Amino acid sequence: MVKTIFITGASTGLGKATAILFALRGWNVIATMRSPEKDIDLSGYPNIKVMALDVTDPEQIIDVAVNVATKVVPDVVFNNAGYGLSGPLEGTTDEQLTRQINTNLLGVMRVTKAFIPLFRERKSGIFLTTTSIGGLVTFPFNSVYHATKWALEGWCESLSYELGQFGIDVKTVSPGGIRTDFAGRSLVLTNHPEYTEPLNKVLEVFADPSRTAQHSTPEQIAKVIFEAATDGQKRLRYIAGEDAKNIYMQRLELGGEKFRKAIDIRFFGK
Ligand code: NAD
Repeated sequence: MVKTIFITGASTGLGKATAILFALRGWNVIATMRSPEKDIDLSGYPNIKVMALDVTDPEQIIDVAVNVATKVVPDVVFNNAGYGLSGPLEGTTDEQLTRQINTNLLGVMRVTKAFIPLFRERKSGIFLTTTSIGGLVTFPFNSVYHATKWALEGWCESLSYELGQFGIDVKTVSPGGIRTDFAGRSLVLTNHPEYTEPLNKVLEVFADPSRTAQHSTPEQIAKVIFEAATDGQKRLRYIAGEDAKNIYMQRLELGGEKFRKAIDIRFFGK
C-alpha cells in the first residue's frame, strides 16, 4: 500500500528536498506552502500534490486537514515550516515576537491538533517535527528562535506519552546547519544600537567558513526524515548532521553550565 506524507513549508529548502525524496521513493506527497501558484518544481511529480497552507492561519489549517482527509489520512505529518529570528531581544518588535511564535510553535501545535483525531481513529500515524539543534543547545542572539525550538522539543516529548496510548508516534528531527534560504532570504535580523559590537562578533562566528563547511545539504537531512518516518522505532529524537551531533555530544559531556561557559568563550572570548 502506497504511503502518504503531508509536509508544511515545502516550497524551499528541507521541505522541498523531503517532498522530492519521498516522491522518488514511491510515497504520495501532499506538499503545502503559502504560495502554491509560485511552485514550478514539485507539481511536475505525478505523486506530489501541492496545496496552499499558511501555518499561521488556524482556519486554513482546519480546512486543509478536512480536505485532505476526504481522500486519504496521511501516514506521516511532517511539521517543517519555520524561520529564524536573530538579534537582540531588546531590538525586537512585538509583531516579530508573535509572528515567530505563531509560525514556529503555534503553527506546529495547530497542524498536529488538526490531524490527531484522524490518526487516533486509525490507531496509527507519525507526527514528525523539524526542531533544530537550537532546540537542545543555545547560541547568543537567537533567544526567541531557541524559545520556539526548545518548546517544540519539550512539547513533542510530552505529547509522545499522550498519543502513544493510541499507537501514534511523535518524533523530532533536530538538524544542525543546513544550506538553505534559512540564514539568508528567510532570516529576520533585529538590531539595537547598544548591541552592535557583540552582535557583529556573533555573526562573524556564524559566518566562519570552517563552521559553515560542516553544514549539511537539505538532501542529507531529508534522508534522516525518511529514516525517522520508516524505521519502525518508537524513538523520539533524531539529531541530524555531523555538526549537530558533535555539539550535542559536547553539551551532554560537559553538562549545561560548563557548556554555556564554553559557548561564551567561543563567541565572546571570555
Ligand atoms: P527555508 O527558509 O528554505 O524553508 C522554510 C520554509 O518554511 C519556507 O519554504 C517558508 O516559505 C516556509 N514558511 C515560513 N513561514 C511559513 C508559514 N507561515 N506557513 C507556511 N510555510 C511557511 O529554510 P529550511 O532550512 O528549509 O527550514 C526548514 C526548517 O528547518 C525550519 O523549521 C527551520 O527552523 C529548521 N532548521 C533549519 C536549519 C538551517 O540551518 N537551515 C537548522 C536547523 C533547523
